[in-house]
Amino acid sequence: MTTLNPRIGGMLVGYYRLCPRKAWLSMRGLWMEQESDAVALGRLLDDHSYSRDEKHLSIDAEAPDGTELVGKIDRTNLKNGVLHETKKGRACEDSHRWQLRFYLWLLYLNGVTRFNGQPFTGQIDYPLLRRTEPVTLDAEHITELATTVSAIRSIAAQETPPPRLTKRVFCTKCAFEELCYG
Ligand code: SF4
Repeated sequence: MTTLNPRIGGMLVGYYRLCPRKAWLSMRGLWMEQESDAVALGRLLDDHSYSRDEKHLSIDAEAPDGTELVGKIDRTNLKNGVLHETKKGRACEDSHRWQLRFYLWLLYLNGVTRFNGQPFTGQIDYPLLRRTEPVTLDAEHITELATTVSAIRSIAAQETPPPRLTKRVFCTKCAFEELCYG
């Protein structure tokens, strides 16, 4: 990935919504072990918790500003028109929602709908909590996602990282905490 013209994926969008600095550090190739463990745990939950009928799905698209977008969706139930994203906890649930909305947007940008012409919907699965949360995409989300992608492109070109969060509520769960606060 070149940082000046990044290919933007769902996880990066989720990071940006949580903390632009976290997105910038990730684009610079910093990928901490704790983060890798969280993703690996997500995959493990994903592989052992759900039906084999659901498929992993990869999808590309181009944003209105020309940015390349990429999505790797945990599980897709094509028959029911639902994209699933598996998470272990709800501490960053707003970030999870944006990640899943991003994948719905990729389908929208490609003109992909269900067999009946209705749009796909999303569902965040929290198997450890035995909870699910529905996610949909509306016109405001589409505008917000386009703005977010442009903003990520803009910070990608910065030589220095965006400032640290002033409220550290997410920092205790972030793999970059020691890097940011020593
Ligand atoms: S520790 Fe806090 S400020 Fe630093 S990248 Fe993570 S969330 Fe952002």
